[in-house]
Amino acid sequence: MKPLTRDDIRRSLVNMSKSRAKALTIPALDDVEWDGLDFYAWVDGRDLNRAYLVARAAEDRLMGVELRATIRSADFRRKSICGFCATAHPVGGTALFSSLKSGKEGRPGNTVGIYMCRSLACSLYAREKIQAPMGQMHETLDRDDRIARIRTNLEGFLAKILH
Ligand SMILES: [Zn+2]
Repeated sequence: MKPLTRDDIRRSLVNMSKSRAKALTIPALDDVEWDGLDFYAWVDGRDLNRAYLVARAAEDRLMGVELRATIRSADFRRKSICGFCATAHPVGGTALFSSLKSGKEGRPGNTVGIYMCRSLACSLYAREKIQAPMGQMHETLDRDDRIARIRTNLEGFLAKILH
């Protein structure tokens, strides 16, 4: 993805108030390898169950969302698969990340959720820059197709937050 500035990120957040977005602590971006990312995401340093994700949504619109991670007790009994990159994880390797919908639909607390790599490292799994915890699944998709799959899943997730 194209490199982002902290201002880009603050302006992109669709489900946070402007004042909270302004006060948000954003990690240093100088060493980020943007070329190898389909989205930029980080975990809140003060609240490990809160994360932020920024990506290009449909029509190249930059869109950022605040996410809440929950691990339900049922998730500790089975392996699970990431809804973005399809990497299989052992118990606890994914979490349910929920985003408040944007605009007035979000005001009553309506959320959209997806099971996602708890490490937020989907882009690295797709490019095999880090090893999948349970090995690569036997699948016929090559690297470009795995990257395309993340983008398709991301666009779908972000579209649901907007509408
Ligand atoms: Zn993933």
